[in-house]
Amino acid sequence: MTKCNHVNDIITPDLSVLFSSDQRDFLIRNNGEKIVGIYLNTPKFMDPYGSFVSKVAVSKGDFEVVFVCYNAIHEEEFNDYFAKMPWLAIPFPETNDIKQRLRKWFRMRDCGLIIIHSNGEILTQETANHMTEWFGEDAYPFTQERFNFLKDQVEASKRNQSITSLLISKSRDFLLSNHGNYQLPVSECELVGKTVCLYFGDNHLKSNDGRYSPCPEFTFLLVYVYNKLKEKGEKFEVVFLSCDQQIEEFKQGLEIMPWLTLPFKDNMAVSLWHYFDFRSDQHTPQLVIIGPDGKTLNKNNVVALIEEYGIDADPFTQEKVDELVKAKEEVPHTLESLLVYGDKDFVIRKNGCKVLVSELVGKNILLFINQYEQLETPKFTKTLIRTYLDIKANKDKALEVIFIAANIEDEWAFDECFSRMPWLALPYRDARKKRIQRIFQLVRCPTIIAIDTSGQVVTNITSFHHPIIMHGAEAYPFTEERFKYMKKEVDKMAKGSWPQKLKHELHAEHELLLMKDRQLYTCSACMEFGTRWTFFCKQCKFNLHPKCALDKQSITLE
Ligand SMILES: [Zn+2]
Ligand SMILES: [Zn+2]
Repeated sequence: MTKCNHVNDIITPDLSVLFSSDQRDFLIRNNGEKIVGIYLNTPKFMDPYGSFVSKVAVSKGDFEVVFVCYNAIHEEEFNDYFAKMPWLAIPFPETNDIKQRLRKWFRMRDCGLIIIHSNGEILTQETANHMTEWFGEDAYPFTQERFNFLKDQVEASKRNQSITSLLISKSRDFLLSNHGNYQLPVSECELVGKTVCLYFGDNHLKSNDGRYSPCPEFTFLLVYVYNKLKEKGEKFEVVFLSCDQQIEEFKQGLEIMPWLTLPFKDNMAVSLWHYFDFRSDQHTPQLVIIGPDGKTLNKNNVVALIEEYGIDADPFTQEKVDELVKAKEEVPHTLESLLVYGDKDFVIRKNGCKVLVSELVGKNILLFINQYEQLETPKFTKTLIRTYLDIKANKDKALEVIFIAANIEDEWAFDECFSRMPWLALPYRDARKKRIQRIFQLVRCPTIIAIDTSGQVVTNITSFHHPIIMHGAEAYPFTEERFKYMKKEVDKMAKGSWPQKLKHELHAEHELLLMKDRQLYTCSACMEFGTRWTFFCKQCKFNLHPKCALDKQSITLE
């Protein structure tokens, strides 16, 4: 803090009131009139394509930035984040007071940037963050007029867009080829007349916000699609626009990439991210398809398109998408079309051994899609395991379950889940997992997709109240008809042969009443889930499955 002057010397009353406090008399340097950016941001959120922080590192003489930390929990977190910034900050303990002032004076509630003159006049607010990230230094002096001018320039260049105008910058006219080993002039890349896929992605295992990055897995899939299209002789190329922060990760990623790439930390990647209107809170991977004429062909959900359809998505136009969706309605998926994809045609056993999908054809199969971070999960899994073993022993020896780990980010978590299960799984990190979730538009867990011996999907249910929870092995063979039949049968028994109340030795103090349409509950006898019918003590919120309650330890009361 030695650089900072006394508050007595500060520039204007406005800023001094905004930033001062009783405990502190430092912060703002006195260099005469200034434009000040108040930058409210959080370590929790980082724009994949270089935030404001990295873009305006070279400040103009009369421009200063004051960072207000939005959402750090620990001072350490604040320190780490601030260490990357070349400017000033409000000390961590005072951020709450300043945030309240920003809210009151500028209605600044979320992360963002506000540019004010040192006399207190607001220069830009709403668009400041976006435009500054996009244009960096060029955005100076950050007025709305300047932004409008830059935006008009972009609109003009969009009208004259070509593949070379997109990829060449003032300071660079080459791309890297051969896994990053050669600089190839863009004019020799033979991109004109080809369909070019711009790939915004990274090579880190963990992304900036601590979640695992889906990019490396997607890269494998794209390499497969790329090689297939090349084999077919298609005029197709990929250019990788990396947002990697570590050069080692960048280089490592290039080793498996057979296509062209922009150099490490090339500004063009950031500019194009904004040029194609991706928001700073959007995640990678993202793909933009540039047609043979250099115009943008498709930039909406191209990643999803490739994840679901792979090479069949070529040439990646909206017409092709419509065609694929229609075809999907006409020819429903089968076990093989769901599980054989790209170069993958197997599932795994717990010991890692591969089982070919072709060996599973003709069997009843359950696809069990579940995630790790759900406290109820082990109970649901427990019931499914008991049911599975019961059916294998008594009804259908050939039945198989295939575990599909949704949103499981760590290998140890996958191993832990899979180690509890007696059946098969898709490998951890496998493009088919995402694809199946896309095909069935799954957003929640647990889901069980039942496939019959002809390979057709018979039921697809996302719910903890799954008929398997209610009926166990009696739910077999998992068709709608069977589920309806079992529901009727159970209701008949409930009305006909089950007592209305009983006493059970596990809950000797009160009698238990037969109740219908209960929420999901945990049976206190077997500790598994139950739903629909229960013997219940309201006072103690005590539940027993009818089948557990009606064993010999109970005494029927009426
Ligand atoms: Zn029970
Ligand atoms: Zn009770």
